[in-house]
Parts: sequence; C-alpha cells; structure tokens
Amino acid sequence: PYLLLRNNFCYIQIRMGKKLVIGSSGQIGVELIEQLAKDFGANQIIAADIKSVLKGKNSAVEYVTLDILDKEKLLKIIKEHNISEVYLLAAMLSAIAEKNIQLAWDLNMKGLLNILDLAKEKYIEKIFWPSSIAVFGPTSPKLNTPQSTLLEPNTVYGISKMSGERWCEYYFLKFGVDVRSLRYPGILSYKSPPGGGTTDYAIEIFHAAINHGFYDSFISEEVTLPMVYMEDAIRATTEIMQADRKNLSINSSYNLAAISFNPEEIANEIKLIFPEFKITYSPDFRNKIALSWPSTIDDSFARKDWGWKHDFDLKKTIIEMVNGIKNSGFN
Ligand code: NAD
Repeated sequence: PYLLLRNNFCYIQIRMGKKLVIGSSGQIGVELIEQLAKDFGANQIIAADIKSVLKGKNSAVEYVTLDILDKEKLLKIIKEHNISEVYLLAAMLSAIAEKNIQLAWDLNMKGLLNILDLAKEKYIEKIFWPSSIAVFGPTSPKLNTPQSTLLEPNTVYGISKMSGERWCEYYFLKFGVDVRSLRYPGILSYKSPPGGGTTDYAIEIFHAAINHGFYDSFISEEVTLPMVYMEDAIRATTEIMQADRKNLSINSSYNLAAISFNPEEIANEIKLIFPEFKITYSPDFRNKIALSWPSTIDDSFARKDWGWKHDFDLKKTIIEMVNGIKNSGFN
C-alpha cells in the first residue's frame, strides 16, 4: 500500500510498510517496541536483535534474529516483512567500546552504512538513528553546549557517533535519504538494564539504594551530565519521526536535553527517600569519559523545529525510578 502526499510542488508516493527495530532487546529497544506497538499496532512492528534469547519480549510482536552487519539477511527481512521504516538501535556503547575498539567501530559504522545504503536504494523510506552527547569532546563548550560547535570527541564511541552524523547528513543531502536523529543524553529507565555506557551510574545508584542502601560511584561527585527519563526519550523519538520533514533544519542530529545532575545531587535526592543511603566515590576510566562530555545542552533547535518539550523533571524522574524498581524493575 502507498500513501499519496502533496508537498508544495507535486504529489509524492510514500510506501506504507512495517517498522523494523534493530537492537530491540536493549535498554531503549524494549521500551520503543512497546510504544510503537501501542501507536501503530503490534502487527506493524518487527523486532530484530543479534541476541537469540529476547528479554522483555512483547508476545504480540514478531521477533527475528539479525546481525546488522549481515546486509544480505537484513535486506531479506526488509523485503519479506515489507519494511518501510527502520529504527537502528544496535550499537556498542561508550564504556564497552573503549575495550573493543575495532568491533565498536565496525558495528557502529557499518551497521549505519548498511541501513543508509538500503534507503538510498529505495528499500526503506525513513530511518531513525540515535547519536549521543558523546559527539562532544573536551574542546566543546561544557555549559549550554550549542547545536553546532567544535566536535573533537576522544572516545571510540564518540568518534563513531560523530562520523555517523556526518554520514546521515551526507546521505540526506546527496541522495535524499530521510534519516532522523537525536543526540540522546544519558537515558534513565528501570525496565531493562543499561548496555555499558558512562551514564549507567545514574541507573545503578537507584538499584543500589533500594537493594543495598549503599553505592560506590564510578563517576566523581561533581561531574554533571545531561540525562533524560526513558518515557521522554521515547516520546522524542516518535515525535521526530512524525515531524514534517520540511520543518527539520538539522540534517545531522538534534541536541536533546531534559535534566542535568551530578552524583552528589542525585544521592542527596535519594537520601530524602532513603535517609540511611550512603555513597562513596571510586572514579575509574568512565569518569574521564564523563569529564569530556557537556554538563548542560542547548536543545533550542529541537524545541523550535518540532516542538520538543521534556515532561520529566528531576523529582518526577526520581519518583518513577524508585517506584518502578520497587514494583517491577530488573535486579
Ligand atoms: P543497548 O546496548 O542496551 O542495546 C543494544 C542492542 O543491540 C542489544 O540488545 C544488542 O544485543 C543489540 N546488538 C548488538 N550488536 C548487534 C548486531 N550486530 N546486530 C543486531 N543487534 C545487535 O543500547 P541502548 O542503550 O538501547 O542504546 C540504543 C542506541 O541508543 C545506541 O545507538 C546508543 O548508542 C544510543 N544511545 C543510548 C543512550 C543510553 O543512555 N542508553 C544514550 C545515548 C545514545
């Protein structure tokens, strides 16, 4: 089936196919699948991951096993399931990537190029690919970091995300590939464990407070990082995918912001709920990564172009995390 849309000049035909989420068993994938199934119907969503044991599986959604680097199988799945939209979440995150340089580069880069090429060849109509605050480096401004600024990341992950952004813009300008992207900050959630990033401490601290009353933080007390609650991150993702392309002035990846805090501030908030909670600090290599990233982000382009507005402030995020972990969170 095709949808006929009119722009200023002519009619354009959009193929109405299913949505494929690649990396569907990860921290974001598990929750994105739920939202997309709610919005479009579970039979319109295909979930793909390299893991054969699929955690957090939605029984109404069809799951397939896929290595994103296997372009042949990827194309087969796209054809077989009439896919028109891809959410590419499979990647190696910042902390793990530092220990697997070549693999991280291959996965983060070739995975994206495989999808961009298939869109260029018209097998896919629209792509979502997340970038990260890791594109910024020690020479980027730390406060209210602008959309366009010096990008000299010094991590494998950051270098791959920065290069990915350049490829996204290139494929859009050169081949008209409709790829949309957000520079996610650290994402806070409780339904699925984080995948080995630098901001994972801000999730671990809640589990530790609830289960042990104690947390030893690998990020030092004064290092402020930008974060967003999962529900907001998912809404940002679905909103940018629904936005009218002609309103999008950023063709690489949008800055996205919600809240910012450091370990000491979050620990103090947690102490208001669990007065016995204790925190100590043993910064490791991840602290160095965190020090190279911004503290606060200027996301005015996202707010202006497609109406981004976060809903979860720090207090609301903390309440959701504590209640969520107590009631159903992973252990
Ligand atoms: P995650 O590590 O939790 O999940 C990634 C998923 O990809 C896993 O289920 C993994 O099995 C799968 N995967 C790995 N290699 C694969 C392959 N070769 N083929 C298919 N699937 C494969 O990651 P996440 O936190 O859900 O992040 C998703 C995306 O969002 C990534 O691109 C990440 O860089 C980006 N991002 C995440 C955060 C965050 O805080 N979680 C912040 C910024 C950006």
